Formats: sequence, C-alpha cells, structure tokens
Amino acid sequence: QLCVVCGDSSSGLHYGVLSCEACKAFFKRTVQGNIRYVCSSDGKCEITKKARRSCPACRMDKCLTMGMLREGSSL
Ligand SMILES: [Zn+2]
Ligand SMILES: [Zn+2]
Repeated sequence: QLCVVCGDSSSGLHYGVLSCEACKAFFKRTVQGNIRYVCSSDGKCEITKKARRSCPACRMDKCLTMGMLREGSSL
C-alpha cells in the first residue's frame, strides 16, 4: 500500500489516510508547530517520494486534500 501523499510505501493509516512515516511526521510537525508554508511556485508542485521535500507548502496542501485530519494530531 502506498502513501496517498507522496507514493512511498505506507506504514498504515495516519490521521485518517494511508501515509508513510515521513509524511506522518511532516504533517504532525506542521500541525503542532502551527507552521504555514508558502509555495515559491504556483502552488501546484508535484509531490513524489523524491520531490516531497522540495515544497512543504504543496506537500501540506496535498496532505489536507487527501483527507488528513488536523483533529487527529494528538494521536
Ligand atoms: Zn508520504
Ligand atoms: Zn509548491
């Protein structure tokens, strides 16, 4: 099973969606730190396993689009 955000292999359901450890940690960090990223491009960067680090703004956007829930961030 694959991470719905970046396509890496998923370690299971995190925050309501299948995601990898890296995206889980990224989402947690972003939500808990209340971090707001700004895309340096047009906000439509492709998020892949390789490129997921290049744009946290679009990565976070994709996390939310794919259904990751902020409410689950205390888990
Ligand atoms: Zn991922
Ligand atoms: Zn971007």
